[in-house]
Amino acid sequence: MVLGIDLGTTNSLIACLRDGVPTPIPTVHGGYLTPSVVSVDQDDVVLVGEAARERLFTDPLRTAGSFKRLMGSTEEVRLGSRRFRAEDLSALVLRSLKADAEAYLQAPVTEVVISVPAYFNDQQRKATRLAGELAGLTVRRLINEPTAAALLHGIHERDIDSKFLVFDLGGGTFDVSILERFSGVMEVRATGGDSFLGGDDFTEALVQWIGKAAPADARAAADPSYRAALRFAAETAKRELSTHTQWDVEMPRGASRARVTLTLAEYELACARLVERLRAPIERALRDARLRTTDLDEIVLVGGATRMPMVRRLAAQLFGRLPARHPDPDQTIALGAAVAAGLVARDAAFEELVLADVCPHSLGTAVAERDGQGGIMSDLFLPIIERNTVVPASRVRTLFTINDQQTRLRIDIYQGEARLCSKNTHLGGLELSVPPRKAGEVRVDVRLTYDVNGILDVDIDSEEAGVKRNLVIKKLAGEVSDDEIERRRRELAALRIHPRDEDENRLVLERAERLFEQLLGAERERVGDYLKQFTLILERQDPHEIRVARGEFARALDGLERGSPW
Ligand code: AMP
Repeated sequence: MVLGIDLGTTNSLIACLRDGVPTPIPTVHGGYLTPSVVSVDQDDVVLVGEAARERLFTDPLRTAGSFKRLMGSTEEVRLGSRRFRAEDLSALVLRSLKADAEAYLQAPVTEVVISVPAYFNDQQRKATRLAGELAGLTVRRLINEPTAAALLHGIHERDIDSKFLVFDLGGGTFDVSILERFSGVMEVRATGGDSFLGGDDFTEALVQWIGKAAPADARAAADPSYRAALRFAAETAKRELSTHTQWDVEMPRGASRARVTLTLAEYELACARLVERLRAPIERALRDARLRTTDLDEIVLVGGATRMPMVRRLAAQLFGRLPARHPDPDQTIALGAAVAAGLVARDAAFEELVLADVCPHSLGTAVAERDGQGGIMSDLFLPIIERNTVVPASRVRTLFTINDQQTRLRIDIYQGEARLCSKNTHLGGLELSVPPRKAGEVRVDVRLTYDVNGILDVDIDSEEAGVKRNLVIKKLAGEVSDDEIERRRRELAALRIHPRDEDENRLVLERAERLFEQLLGAERERVGDYLKQFTLILERQDPHEIRVARGEFARALDGLERGSPW
């Protein structure tokens, strides 16, 4: 069985097809979402998911979240004495999803489809595949997140040919895709977006606002725990303001607490510029697809941040109608990925649907031109396959020598949209010997062929030079060899991961530690007492007693979290 995975910036989720129905797989804690957070505790034990997320507050220097933003980069994240790349951290999240799925399905899970933002470039896609391999998974396919969402909606709600736009505002990225379903074929017509705009930015706007309304003294403001508390309060307020018109926030100030009331109207005003930034990528995607809003049959909202009324209002305004939403916009992508996994595995339920996808960035070559005044302009980008071309795609452009008696010609392949190659990403290149002739007399055809798996084939053919060369670009900068993958897999395997059967106990303990830091006075003392009692019960190792005590403890913490009396 092939499973679908949404490896999200904030949360991840794994889903399967059960009798043809996409079904989310619960975590060991009983919910569905696994926070994409990793933490290394003082004993060098690695925690993943909910318990790790609690530690964003109590141990922020040894805890990392939002690392999806670093995928494809060489940046390392330091957690305690260890350093991790984004793909290592993602692999740890994937391993946790795999373990949950294996426990739920009672069968080994090895094959998956993983979703990625439509805007991920090849490097980021390669890093995602690598994360899968490091987690011991075979990544059968990567799928664009909006494509996954569209598959879910398309399959369940459309019988007729239609064009629609997927508006996906997650924690860290905004993706827009325009898709067309035609004779049973789902085709991505255009993608656009902003990989640095998401729900986290709305939280950040609230952090700023609460920070101003209830200023802390300089020492507290520099304390990582205080900043984590501020972020936590902002995140809660943001969620509550999706269903309430005002929300009270309490922040510690010295020995007391400051109370601020946030109103929805003020919050929306503070975020007006963020909402405005959602417009341009939509307009660009529509232009690329040569469509007007009136040509669209449906708008689909995806991603947790589309729960915010101001975002839904913008979508309704832009498109002049109420957008479609899945009841749980956090699950849409994983469920859609499970649908895609079914296609990949040739599940009979979806046999007739073929996937088509687009190449998210333009691919081309570097050229030099005479400037007409005796000089040469070099470093110019000549796009060969333009962004939003449906893949697999194959396009050819012909280059000519520029100097008399030129004997060498360099072909460099770039990815990007900038006019100058130096601003784009270099993918590879090669040099040819050419016969010395007059400028323009030697022609070289450069054919680029790009497939669904992101492999770029470069075919170079020159009759005059009598050469045919081929270059397969799968090794982009940052790409790692099989030996390196094996070495890193072994390193990750050697990490001490917190035992799963104790995960629930650990979560309740980490949560209590966080609340102990957040609360004051009698409430704090109660958390302290509960922590002591529960630690003693754990030492007695009676599974029944532990289960009962844990349930009580969690309910008590729930009560505190909601601000109700014990
Ligand atoms: P996703 O990546 O789709 O899981 O979306 C995560 C983002 O959605 C985060 O920024 C969350 O804070 C945000 N989010 C989740 N639930 C809500 C809600 N009820 N109101 C506003 N934002 C939310």
